[in-house]
Amino acid sequence: MAAGLYLHIPFCSAICHYCNFNRRLLDESLKARYVDALVSEIRTAPEAGAEVDTVFFGGGTPSLLTPGEVARLLGACREAFDLAGDTEVTLEANPESVSEALLAGYRQAGVTRVSLGVQSFRDAELGRLGRLHSADRARAAVAEARAAGVDNLSLDLMLWLPGQALSDWLESVDALIDLRPDHASLYLLEIYPNAPLRDVMARGGWAVAPDDMAAEMYSQGLSRLDRAGYQQYEISNVARAGRQSRHNLKYWQAGSWLGLGCGAHSTWNGIRWRNIPGAGEYVDRLAEGAKVRTDERALSPVERLEEVLFMGLRLTEGLDLDVIRATHGVDVWGDHGGELERCVEGGLLVHEGGRLALTRPGMLVASEIMMVFIGDAVR
Ligand code: SF4
Repeated sequence: MAAGLYLHIPFCSAICHYCNFNRRLLDESLKARYVDALVSEIRTAPEAGAEVDTVFFGGGTPSLLTPGEVARLLGACREAFDLAGDTEVTLEANPESVSEALLAGYRQAGVTRVSLGVQSFRDAELGRLGRLHSADRARAAVAEARAAGVDNLSLDLMLWLPGQALSDWLESVDALIDLRPDHASLYLLEIYPNAPLRDVMARGGWAVAPDDMAAEMYSQGLSRLDRAGYQQYEISNVARAGRQSRHNLKYWQAGSWLGLGCGAHSTWNGIRWRNIPGAGEYVDRLAEGAKVRTDERALSPVERLEEVLFMGLRLTEGLDLDVIRATHGVDVWGDHGGELERCVEGGLLVHEGGRLALTRPGMLVASEIMMVFIGDAVR
C-alpha cells in the first residue's frame, strides 16, 4: 500500500471552547516562517522517494493558508516523494475562512477534496462551542465549494452537544443531507477535564444528554444517512460510493503515514514517532537543521497486532482473520472464540466468511468490545 502524508497547520482565528488539538492563535509572521519550515521538513525527510497517494492538510485551520502556500507545500511533496497521478489531496477548512475564490485557488494548487468543519446547523449550538461561523455561513461555504468545482466534499458534524436534544441533532443531520456532500463524519463531542466549555455549560445551565440518548442520536442519525444513500464504512464515517477518505483508511488499515509539522504523529513501516508540539520551537529547530522528531520507537509484534485489530474493527468490513493468521501468526477465532462468541450471540459482532465485524449496536460499545477482545487475543 502506498503511504500518506499528513501536514499539520496549527493556526486558528479563535480557539473553540472544546478544542484539545495542537493549535494556536494565528500569527501571520509565524505562519510564513512555519510554511518555510514545513517545506524544509518535507524536503529533508529520510523517507523521501517513497510512493505516496494521499496528502492531508489538517489542523488547526488549514484554510488559513493562501493557495500559494498550499501550492508551495504540495510542490515540495511532489519533489520529495513519488506522488501517484491520482493522489487524493484533502484540505480541512472552516466555513468562516473560505470563499469561492479561495477554494478555486486551492483546487488550482492541487487540492482534490475539501473537508468542512460544520459541526452543527444550529446557531445556538455553534455559539456554545465557540465556533466563529453560523449555519447560514456553513451552507454558503458548501455552495462556494461546489461553485469552485470541488467535487469531493466532506462535512463534519458533532453530536452530544451541550443542550442538544435528539430532535436538534436530527435537524442538523437533515440539513447535512439536503446539502448532498460526498462524505460525512459524525463525531461524539468529548469534553476534556479543563475545557473552557465546562464553564460555558455551567454558566448557561446546559448539560449533555444521558448516555443512552447519545446512542439513540448516533443510531437515528446513521439510519437517516442510510436512507439518503450514504454507506457507513467506519464507526464515525459515511460516504457515497467510491468517496471514502483514502487517507483516513491508511490509519484504519494499519498503513504507513508520515506526519509533518509541529506535533504531527507518524507510523512508518512499524516505526512510530511524533514531532515536537510547539510551532515556534519547530520553526527554530528546522532553521538550525536540528531534529524535530521525538519518542521514536519500533512497535513490538504485540503492538502491531493490537493496532491491526483495534483499527480494523472500526471499519464496517471488519477483520480478515485469514490475513491476520498469515501475517501475525495468530488464530484469533480458534484461540479466543469463546469470548468473541458471546459478543456474536449478544448481537455486537458478526463472524461470517472468515471475517469478524462490529454490528451497529456493537459500534456503540466498540471500546469495551475492543478491550475485551484485544486483551484476550494477544494474551
Ligand atoms: S477550529 Fe478546530 S483546531 Fe481550531 S480551535 Fe476550533 S476545534 Fe480547535
